[in-house]
Amino acid sequence: MKTIPYACQDISEEDISSVVEALRSECLTQGPIHQAFEAAVADRCNAKFAVSTNSATSALHIACLALGVSRGDLVWTSAITFAATANAVMFTGAEVDFIDIDPRTFNISIECLQEKLKRANKIGKLPKVVIPVHIAGQSCEMDSIWSLSREYGFKIIEDASHAIGGAYLDNLIGSCRYSDITVFSFHPVKIITSGEGGMALTNDADLANKLKLYRSHGITSNHEEMLWRPELEIWNYQQIELGYNYRMTDIHAALGLSQLKRLNEFIAKRHALANNYQNILQNLPIKLPWQHPNAFSSFHLYIIRLGAKETGKTQKQVYKEMRDRGILVNFHYIPVYRHPYYEKLGFKSGYCQEAESYFKEALSIPMFTRLSGDEQIKVGTILESILT
Ligand SMILES: *Cc1c(COP(=O)(O)O)cnc(C)c1O
Repeated sequence: MKTIPYACQDISEEDISSVVEALRSECLTQGPIHQAFEAAVADRCNAKFAVSTNSATSALHIACLALGVSRGDLVWTSAITFAATANAVMFTGAEVDFIDIDPRTFNISIECLQEKLKRANKIGKLPKVVIPVHIAGQSCEMDSIWSLSREYGFKIIEDASHAIGGAYLDNLIGSCRYSDITVFSFHPVKIITSGEGGMALTNDADLANKLKLYRSHGITSNHEEMLWRPELEIWNYQQIELGYNYRMTDIHAALGLSQLKRLNEFIAKRHALANNYQNILQNLPIKLPWQHPNAFSSFHLYIIRLGAKETGKTQKQVYKEMRDRGILVNFHYIPVYRHPYYEKLGFKSGYCQEAESYFKEALSIPMFTRLSGDEQIKVGTILESILT
């Protein structure tokens, strides 16, 4: 049986040639190609600086470090995200806490954030950083989050792993108009891929410098930054912080750079697919993804919500029946705090109610640039036969 995945990369012959060319070049890592990729992403997204990494997870980690997050600090993120968002906070020794979602967008609820900030302020436990996550490629309400950050004094890292090519109001995701740092993922299921890879964007030169430092062992070759300069020994570099090896190779960057040229085409295709689903699925007893009027989504995912009341079938049953029939639907995401690792830290089932209802209803149906109209009809037909 030919199966249809929920997501899949789209690799062209030109992408392949770019990688082969990189393999023949002088530098396989930290050469001119990764710099060109960084410059091209910064340019495309209207940011001053871009720092490439070997994954979005490592970009999130060094973004936290660059903002000074460490033991004793508190960072908040959405209850509905990939575990990596919260894990990146845990790596720093800081504590993580979760904000409930808006049931229409599946992004953090501004009301919940506001309430939680009020309560935290009373007991002196405000977060140092908040990490909004743009689920499915649709931006969070960043103007409101930005205003709250002015009021309560927290920094913002946008986890835009899903959202390159998207926008909020007149600002491209990545422009950091409403944040300190924005992070992209280039994992193969995401909008563009470098195999594995990520990037952190910022408009702040000092943050960009720190991101680069933490990306590469905490080592600097800049004499201005060195802590002492004895005259009789060779000190062409110094380690001034504890950093990591989170560098992106030029081989990966070559693929990313080539894919970036196709970003506009990819986003247009994803919007066409979303419109098509709108027509195919509009009469089924399900909720189609609602779009916030201020957001232009990159449509990384197409998430529907099923109500057992309407169909007499649970989401888990639909998930299984769809997969049995070759439609490899998926689920994004288990509320992070429900993972055993986080439950062991003391989080309890039921902590974020909207996130838990979402957990019982959401399903990601196939959405990727090479998905055909016929395959979309097949998805619709099978879904209809299961639900009715
Ligand atoms: C994919 C993803 C990540 C992690 O990205 P990697 O590049 O695989 O490390 C983090 N957050 C979200 C929301 C993601 O979807």
